Amino acid sequence: MAKRDYYEVLGLQKGATEEEIKKAYRKLAVKYHPDRNPDDKEAAEKFREATEAYEVLSDEKKRPLYDQYGFAGVDEQMGGGGAQYSHAFHDFSDLFGGMGGGFGDIFDNIFGGGGRTSSRRRSGPQEGASLRYDLHISFKDAVLGTKVDIRFKHNETCEACNGTGCAAGATRKTCPTCNGIGQVRRSAGFFSVQQPCPDCGGTGTKIDKPCRECGGRGVKEKAKKVALTIPAGVDDGKRFALSRQGDAGENGGPAGDLIVILHVDQHPLFERDAQDLYCAIPVSFTQAILGADISIESIDGKKIAIKIPAGTSSGKLLRIKGEGVPFTGNPGRRGDLYIKVVVQIPQKISSTQKDLLQKYMEQENPTDTPKLLTLSSLQ
Ligand SMILES: [Zn+2]
Ligand SMILES: [Zn+2]
Repeated sequence: MAKRDYYEVLGLQKGATEEEIKKAYRKLAVKYHPDRNPDDKEAAEKFREATEAYEVLSDEKKRPLYDQYGFAGVDEQMGGGGAQYSHAFHDFSDLFGGMGGGFGDIFDNIFGGGGRTSSRRRSGPQEGASLRYDLHISFKDAVLGTKVDIRFKHNETCEACNGTGCAAGATRKTCPTCNGIGQVRRSAGFFSVQQPCPDCGGTGTKIDKPCRECGGRGVKEKAKKVALTIPAGVDDGKRFALSRQGDAGENGGPAGDLIVILHVDQHPLFERDAQDLYCAIPVSFTQAILGADISIESIDGKKIAIKIPAGTSSGKLLRIKGEGVPFTGNPGRRGDLYIKVVVQIPQKISSTQKDLLQKYMEQENPTDTPKLLTLSSLQ
């Protein structure tokens, strides 16, 4: 196969900028990377070809030579082999940094960077994983507090093997494939790629006879129930950390935590702003004019007598002290309840009512040319 022009390989024109070259190579490298395309000879060749093109075009000395003399200008420096590509990757973190997804891991594995946990050999005590539990509770329970049973699954230390993963009489031995390193090297194209050892899963050790209960993992998934007291006054998004209720640790390490994240449902009537509660109450226009005594039910289910003062306009906020949300940590103290008065105008009235209102209107002398007001002056 004839060698393709380096610009063509990267899908670029001759005058391409440094940034365009970098971008084009990154795209191809991601697509044809050997880790993504195991045993795909065509992808490996494309990866090699793109890397070679990038190696030359990203080099401020080699690029002008290539531009002027073509392959002849750079062949000499290339040494004809594939062994001299290393310097193209000086700025690998620059090229692949911030890409998100799994590529950081892949390239870290290849170029040995980062010190990621995935490539770190596990030895010594390790803390177990912390688990997340999303708890949904009612609005009322969040305001008044409640007790809930949290049921979840977590890994517990296997009792049969006491967490060692070994069957009775068996022992853990150094992995013969990787000699306890936990990593093996394999060649991919012209790269030598470091990978977690497939024989021991990167742990560096192997059990000659794994525990039958846990399959050698040393932990077993178990259902668990813990009681959680939700204090009065908590709000949506509140987190509770239940210490050491997560997954069991390894090699004598402590268990992780169970993190409970609170999700509070909406209430059909009440809304909340910090420790205050809000709702609305409809009243008739005659109640608004003449005043009225009415009764409502608080969030606690308590009957509360409310006085609508004579001459109350629609939109007025009535404040009922101490009927809001308790302050967490000081449940004796509570916010307030605000009730917005909404005056309802009847859509249908009887002829008697109409006569009465006509008579009322005659007493009222409404003007045909009222003065306009600003919106905010009515609130
Ligand atoms: Zn076991
Ligand atoms: Zn191994």
